[in-house]
Amino acid sequence: MRVNIIGGGLAGCSLSYILKKEGVEPVIYEASSELASGASGNDIGLYNPRFAAQMDSPSEFYSSAFFESLEVFKGLKDCVDWNPCGVLSLLTDERRVKRFYKTAKSWDWSEDDMRLVSPEEASKIAGVEIPYKALYTPKSGNISPKKLCHEYARGIKVHLNTKIDDLTVLEGDATILACGMGCLNFEEAKNLPLKSVRGQVSYIKQTEQTKNLKVALSYSGHFSPALRGVHCLGSTFQPWLDHSDLIEEDNLTNLEKLFEVLPYFRGDYSVAYSKAGVRTTSKDHFPIVGKLKAYDDLYISTAHGSYGIITTLLSAKIIANSIVESHGVVSQQVLKALNPYRFK
Ligand SMILES: Cc1cc2nc3c(=O)[nH]c(=O)nc-3n(C[C@H](O)[C@H](O)[C@H](O)COP(=O)(O)OP(=O)(O)OC[C@H]3O[C@@H](n4cnc5c(N)ncnc54)[C@H](O)[C@@H]3O)c2cc1C
Repeated sequence: MRVNIIGGGLAGCSLSYILKKEGVEPVIYEASSELASGASGNDIGLYNPRFAAQMDSPSEFYSSAFFESLEVFKGLKDCVDWNPCGVLSLLTDERRVKRFYKTAKSWDWSEDDMRLVSPEEASKIAGVEIPYKALYTPKSGNISPKKLCHEYARGIKVHLNTKIDDLTVLEGDATILACGMGCLNFEEAKNLPLKSVRGQVSYIKQTEQTKNLKVALSYSGHFSPALRGVHCLGSTFQPWLDHSDLIEEDNLTNLEKLFEVLPYFRGDYSVAYSKAGVRTTSKDHFPIVGKLKAYDDLYISTAHGSYGIITTLLSAKIIANSIVESHGVVSQQVLKALNPYRFK
């Protein structure tokens, strides 16, 4: 079988990786001159589920996506800068306290995978002072989305500088739209409620204050332990913008968010570089994954929002299983929640 994949970001590259494992021949078509040139181009990203208060279908999806991804990351390790350093989700206000207490209770993860910790324990784990309780997920951490794309697509046929406008020119047994907001350019997907959200991450040089940080911190932003002397500090969230030009002020916004929760970090920082991109999300902020109606051989994987590092991989498995008619990896309820036709 030959399957066409439109888009060479995390969604498309993870599909190529999983399909190849299933004995299918994937071919990636990417509009720009390299893989990971869109939202997936960051050097460091945080992988962690989206923690909701209840264990509903979306939470079931994020939970499975997390553990499925861990298995794959373990196999790729250093070539994708995998650092399972753990994440402390800081309970910085009453709303987050309530939500994360409910998460810890309803998600039913083992103590080894998730637990609430006191400020004292959080500080010990972090290697720096943390004046908040936190939800600790020791197996979460950082990875390079950009390197992941390249590893996933290793040995796969890729056509760069190839923007696909017309699906009928493609030969093959199936086609998958994995091109973020670009999906809207296709007649078959033009009515989907996709929205773009610009974001910018700042890579800041390690300082005396930050060098002891051992885990990633998640609050209204996120801050990662230094990799090769540079921390990843993320990210702005701008639904009103859809360009990926750099904005100087965004680096200050990222720093301010950090100083607001951990004022003792306040000081002089030098931004090594920054990177902006456009996330694709949907009306209900949940990925859109599955078969497009009336087209037996057309699938879609998009709207991975801010959690694409883990959601793209499980989505790839779901689509691959449908193409090769293998047993399902998620429940019917999860498939329903991801279904492209769920919107009224
Ligand atoms: C600033 C920022 C920080 C983020 N941080 C994190 C994080 O810490 N953790 C996390 O999990 N997620 C994070 N995300 C989200 C994550 O990066 C995305 O969910 C993920 O990259 C989406 O992958 P994608 O393949 O769907 O989209 P993209 O990476 O945008 O890929 C789509 C590709 O399709 C190509 N394309 C479009 N139209 C066509 C066409 N017609 N023909 C051929 N090719 C086409 C584009 O050129 C592009 O390369 C972040 C995103 C941003 C912007």
